[in-house]
Amino acid sequence: MTLLLPPGATIGIVGGGQLGRMSAIAAARLGFCSHIFTPEAGSPASQVSGTTTVAEYTDHDALTRFAAAVDVVTFEFENLPAASLDLLASLKPVHPGPEILRISQDRLLEKSFLNDIGIATAPWTAIQTAADISTLPGILKTTRLGYDGKGQALVRTPAEAQAAFEALNPKPLVLEGLVDFHSEISVVVARNQSGAMASFDPVENRHKNHILDITMAPAPLPLDVLAEATRLARHIAESLNLIGLLAVEMFVTSTGTLLVNEIAPRPHNSGHWTLDACPASQFEMHIRAVAGLPLPPATRHSDAVMKNLVGPRDMELWPAILATPGLIPHHYGKAEAREGRKMAHFTRLFPRGSLPGEFGIAAALRLAGNADLA
Ligand code: AMP
Repeated sequence: MTLLLPPGATIGIVGGGQLGRMSAIAAARLGFCSHIFTPEAGSPASQVSGTTTVAEYTDHDALTRFAAAVDVVTFEFENLPAASLDLLASLKPVHPGPEILRISQDRLLEKSFLNDIGIATAPWTAIQTAADISTLPGILKTTRLGYDGKGQALVRTPAEAQAAFEALNPKPLVLEGLVDFHSEISVVVARNQSGAMASFDPVENRHKNHILDITMAPAPLPLDVLAEATRLARHIAESLNLIGLLAVEMFVTSTGTLLVNEIAPRPHNSGHWTLDACPASQFEMHIRAVAGLPLPPATRHSDAVMKNLVGPRDMELWPAILATPGLIPHHYGKAEAREGRKMAHFTRLFPRGSLPGEFGIAAALRLAGNADLA
């Protein structure tokens, strides 16, 4: 069934975080209403949406009522039970579909899927018992519910491996070979029901305490590496038969080889720069794709540096950020700045073509704020 939602239609968004908030704002700009489903009262997304259902993700009665009230369902949060999405999909179109969520929720399914379609990943082994851990060093990860560095441990010795195996849950785990990467990049691609795709330029991501700190757009890499990254992301979106948005995180090795680390079928933190540097942001692409609208090209009018503001210390800088010309602030409306919690971000734009290589990036980071911000 083809879907082309008219203005006034309602997009159901499962998840109430900042990704839902920015998707709901994009939906409003296209004339849609959004209805948020979240267990959290007063969530970042419900603050900017007309309607919210506050209920647990497992509450089938509430999910059924939610489905009846919306025209299409999408999600901004991956750790929801796929069975809940199955229920919604039996009642209304759900984009991306539950099968895509299942693959992205489970590192073993995800890596098998990627390898099966010819995509290289770090070498990996499924770990059922501690005795399966044979190659060290490596990174031991939970297969489910891991994010921002949670649910994983670097293991160098058999003793470390044993301790990490006992500490990490739920089992099974996955052991990945340690990739000696030059940089980490990501590509966000949108695909609609007609199979049309729009992919944003690959960007470089730098992390602090396992949480994304800075994204630089475009990634300062040779054009052939950027083109290959884009090709891989599109190939994955097509192979998944995606309707919606997909972020693909990759390692760039020192020889320029690309290894896919993770995929996320939703807007992604490394795509926030598109709000300010592109005519149509990742959030607009997300809403367009799930609503059956045409996708404009994912062009970039500016280079950009995006900086995350995480936890109470970063938020002490908020007044200084507001007072600094050229910094574009985005606050998520969360009442409490807990440690490790993503609270806001800002973007700084640069003329297109002015962020080439390390020199440009160092200059950009200095310009993006004061030394504290960079
Ligand atoms: P993940 O939760 O898989 O996104 O991993 C979080 C971060 O840990 C990545 O962004 C990398 O910086 C690092 N990391 C994850 N897997 C590997 C690996 N196999 N080799 C080296 N670094 C890794």
